[in-house]
Amino acid sequence: MPGLRAVAGGLAARLPVIDMPVYLAWLRRRLVRAGGTVKVREVTDLTAVPAAVVVNCAGLGARSLVPDPAVRPVRGQLVVVENPGVTDWFTRVDHSSAASTYFIPQPGRLLLGGTAEEDDWSLEPDPGTAAAIVTRCAAVRPEIAGARVLAHRVGLRPAREAVRLERQPLPDGRALVHNYGHGGAGVTVAWGCARETAALAFPAA
Ligand SMILES: Cc1cc2nc3c(=O)[nH]c(=O)nc-3n(C[C@H](O)[C@H](O)[C@H](O)COP(=O)(O)OP(=O)(O)OC[C@H]3O[C@@H](n4cnc5c(N)ncnc54)[C@H](O)[C@@H]3O)c2cc1C
Repeated sequence: MPGLRAVAGGLAARLPVIDMPVYLAWLRRRLVRAGGTVKVREVTDLTAVPAAVVVNCAGLGARSLVPDPAVRPVRGQLVVVENPGVTDWFTRVDHSSAASTYFIPQPGRLLLGGTAEEDDWSLEPDPGTAAAIVTRCAAVRPEIAGARVLAHRVGLRPAREAVRLERQPLPDGRALVHNYGHGGAGVTVAWGCARETAALAFPAA
């Protein structure tokens, strides 16, 4: 990868990165332009969804919706700070620990991470965890220590031993296609999984 450097036991690089709120809004506009509509409502029964083909992308929700107990949360906590001038992406992952160290410059802010806490459902930011994240990141870039904290974030990665990409017949003959369980790489693998899902949904197309 061009510009990838070994730094402080991790990797640093200057890369294009996805700004999720901007990206999700763009995906939604793209869907609407292609003739799609977005309805927000809870689905409690996949067989009751009024569509010729039902695609289940419920993430962690698949645990109760399918139901599939193989889908489990892997909690990730982040600290959002004012960017003190960091322009490189940095990551250092210790696979033997729930704590990793990364920072991602984004417009108007710097994201500091992170954690990977298996089977932890808590959406409450933990102050001790947040302080430890700042300390780990500041050990790599000292100017992060004094950066003003803008927000705390927690997300639950929808982990599964393998992504479920599978077509199932519904009792009335319609098709149900599952596409869930992407864990901590759902953005990375999204387009490939979407293509495979479309091929399962419309095999003759
Ligand atoms: C801290 C953190 C950092 C991450 N970093 C990265 C990264 O660097 N790169 C990367 O590729 N990935 C990353 N991920 C993982 C990525 O966010 C997920 O893999 C991805 O969001 C999974 O997408 P999804 O659409 O399958 O599930 P989700 O994003 O969880 O979406 C599922 C949707 O289904 C809805 N839903 C669930 N049940 C129901 C129901 N019964 N009825 C109606 N709606 C329902 C939910 O409300 C939700 O909107 C990260 C995740 C976290 C938490």
